[in-house]
Amino acid sequence: MLFSELRLIEPILKAVESEGYQKPTPIQEKAIPNILKLKDLLGCAQTGTGKTAAFAIPMLQILHMRHLKTNKKAIKALVLTPTRELAIQIQDSFNAYGKNLPIKNLVIFGGVGQQPQVDALRKGVDILVATPGRLLDLMNQGHVSLSDIEIFVLDEADRMLDMGFIHDVKRIVGKLPAIRQTLFFSATMPTEIEKLANTILKNPVTVEVTPVSSTAETITQSVYFVDKPDKRKLLRHLLDELKIDHTLVFTRTKHGADRIARDLAKDGIKSAAIHGDKSQGARQRALNEFKERKLRVLVATDIAARGIDIDDLTYVFNYDLPNIPETYVHRIGRTGRAGANGTAISFVDAEENEYLLDIHKLIKRTIPIVEDHPYPLSWKSMLASKEVQRKPQKDSKGNAASNKKKVYKGGGNRRK
Ligand code: AMP
Repeated sequence: MLFSELRLIEPILKAVESEGYQKPTPIQEKAIPNILKLKDLLGCAQTGTGKTAAFAIPMLQILHMRHLKTNKKAIKALVLTPTRELAIQIQDSFNAYGKNLPIKNLVIFGGVGQQPQVDALRKGVDILVATPGRLLDLMNQGHVSLSDIEIFVLDEADRMLDMGFIHDVKRIVGKLPAIRQTLFFSATMPTEIEKLANTILKNPVTVEVTPVSSTAETITQSVYFVDKPDKRKLLRHLLDELKIDHTLVFTRTKHGADRIARDLAKDGIKSAAIHGDKSQGARQRALNEFKERKLRVLVATDIAARGIDIDDLTYVFNYDLPNIPETYVHRIGRTGRAGANGTAISFVDAEENEYLLDIHKLIKRTIPIVEDHPYPLSWKSMLASKEVQRKPQKDSKGNAASNKKKVYKGGGNRRK
């Protein structure tokens, strides 16, 4: 299918063409016609599938056609998204696809002064992209009214839940007009998100581009078992061995992110860390330098990395494994975007074996183990990891599960 077969108006087709897109991605192919028919949509899609364009393009078209003759000054569409990075990227998409249309958009998020945002709101905005906290602040101060919203997009709903924003989201939804079009996107569908979707969508069309909680087919995944203190050396080794000149490295903690970036710098590798304690300016600067390839490595915590969109990112490292298996899916979704090939490498120490088993369960496959590397787990760690496996395990319902299921099969071969 071609974009020209999607009944898009000329100014949008031209803008899409100038982005260099050859054809719509599967989610765009399925979502755009339904949104243009004014249907509610439940989009179950992970990052990198082109989901932003899947909602931004038809929204621009609907708003443009509907308000062509009137000049109504009101916020007509709201996109709610969990992080500022993601919010900025969504605004970039509206700017790109709407560059030939007179539709105004604005992005608002916390962590920066609110006055410029208030001033911009006063001038009139058609589409507002916002993170929940700052939006609520500005609503409470009377700077934002949602009473004219015609289209509401809830992006990355599962992430809103992970980040503790779900109550804010519900409060915002409570202020929206009952008659509206709602587009709901989530990479995974935990029960609470399914419930939320059921309450805010009306007869939605469901568009599912990859099975829930699966990982993109285009991403090659591997696991390296390694002792925690050796992770630094293994990363250094692989950067050279695999000739990686551009990679994103994930870590669970802010402190860890800083330490890895510092260690890499000591080894002469240009790198920076982004996490929640860094100012918005510092984060954006690091991201820009990474995109411009002035940095070889960007180290990020999950929250900071949310929504980062980097073209041609072929490698992603999990320096440590996330304790929430869905986060693994989000992390590796940073590579292999829009059908490109990607490689995700995970370092697993003895204590993280549990997390790996949870990830296998979620993605319904076993990630291949790379045995042959210079820093294998020590016998002491292997024994410790066996101790962990011997403890009674609980399954997701809290029932004791058999230990046999949890035994880590790769470990036995690792002793040298
Ligand atoms: P998203 O899933 O919205 O984060 O998009 C992931 C990436 O895919 C972004 O860099 C988009 O610019 C890119 N993209 C979106 N739609 C297309 C398309 N039809 N063809 C090629 N790339 C696309």
